Amino acid sequence: MKTFDFLRPPDPAAAIAAQGRSKTSQQGAEIRFLAGGTTLVDLMKLNVETPGQLVDINRLPLDKIERLPDGGLKIGATVRNSALAQHDVVKKDYACLSQAILAGASAQLRNRATTAGNLLQRTRCVYFRDPAFPCNKRVPGSGCPAIEGHNRNLAILGTSTHCIANNPSDMCVALAALEAVVHIEGSKGKRAVPIADFHLLPGETPERETVLEPGDLITHVTLPPPSPGAKSLYLKLRDRASYEFALASAAVILVMEGGRVQRVRFAMGGIGTKPWRSSEAEAALEGQAPEAATFQRAAEIILRGAKPQSENGFKVELAKRCIAHALKLAASAA
Ligand SMILES: Cc1cc2nc3c(=O)[nH]c(=O)nc-3n(C[C@H](O)[C@H](O)[C@H](O)COP(=O)(O)OP(=O)(O)OC[C@H]3O[C@@H](n4cnc5c(N)ncnc54)[C@H](O)[C@@H]3O)c2cc1C
Ligand code: SF4
Repeated sequence: MKTFDFLRPPDPAAAIAAQGRSKTSQQGAEIRFLAGGTTLVDLMKLNVETPGQLVDINRLPLDKIERLPDGGLKIGATVRNSALAQHDVVKKDYACLSQAILAGASAQLRNRATTAGNLLQRTRCVYFRDPAFPCNKRVPGSGCPAIEGHNRNLAILGTSTHCIANNPSDMCVALAALEAVVHIEGSKGKRAVPIADFHLLPGETPERETVLEPGDLITHVTLPPPSPGAKSLYLKLRDRASYEFALASAAVILVMEGGRVQRVRFAMGGIGTKPWRSSEAEAALEGQAPEAATFQRAAEIILRGAKPQSENGFKVELAKRCIAHALKLAASAA
């Protein structure tokens, strides 16, 4: 492992000034931000990540959850996953987000993990996490052994011939359904990126996972105001009931009116190279009665184009049942 300096900035302004001058954020960059460390330090111990320097951002004033004037919510980049999941407003108005976070990792990990770190957590593909193997995401152009190897947990949607790794985050699935916006500050100023555009498909460049550029710091995430009367939930299917990543998961936000679906947003995890959403599947539900056949139709649409690998064909049916059941649960609660 390369040596690195652990930098603890004397004040927040110094940290922001430092990131303006430095190559940061994109994987492989020389200087990296350290938040909870539960992804980055983990991967450094495996020699998968070898940053030259770390900048500890934990003392930046980015740890607040605040109501916005429009009724939405502003979530600071260093808000701990546990604090976000247990926040009264989140539990009441954005239940799928609270449930998604609590379905992930362990209490100890959630106490360390942060909003921005969770957005940037990396795949659990076994070849990515072991430098003894080639991996296009870790070493571009070296190959993808997962395509003909162990791929039971990997993606069936959004894959390419270069990478089939899935996005492992539970929180990001809820953020996708909630249509969150990621706020970024970098050397070119500030910008706001809808979550749907934040993560990139692997295509020919699987090493590039998000739109972050060198020097970009995520400052916060915003959520739109909650829809009145909405029922929201997160359903996670996995090999065991705790401390396990999703095989398929679904976040649903559903509003019923007059016995019909008035508005619905949903996203799926465990199956895509990024949190997966289909506006076509949502449109197929709106205005319809909450019946099994309608939910099944939406499930067929969101799974359209799925490309199972040698070990994960079961995910197609599992994912359909996951979203159909999540929709049924939300409709019956509404
Ligand atoms: C054993 C184990 C089990 C887990 N199980 C689950 C699970 O079931 N579901 C799930 O969703 N997750 C799971 N996780 C992943 C966990 O949620 C993530 O590790 C965590 O959310 C990462 O947050 P962090 O603050 O620790 O990130 P860090 O490790 O500090 O950072 C991660 C990445 O983000 C970058 N970064 C951090 N903050 C910023 C910022 N503000 N701006 C720009 N870049 C930044 C870092 O440089 C790094 O590249 C598990 C992790 C472990 C170790
Ligand atoms: S699926 Fe992606 S992360 Fe896994 S070995 Fe292939 S290129 Fe690497």
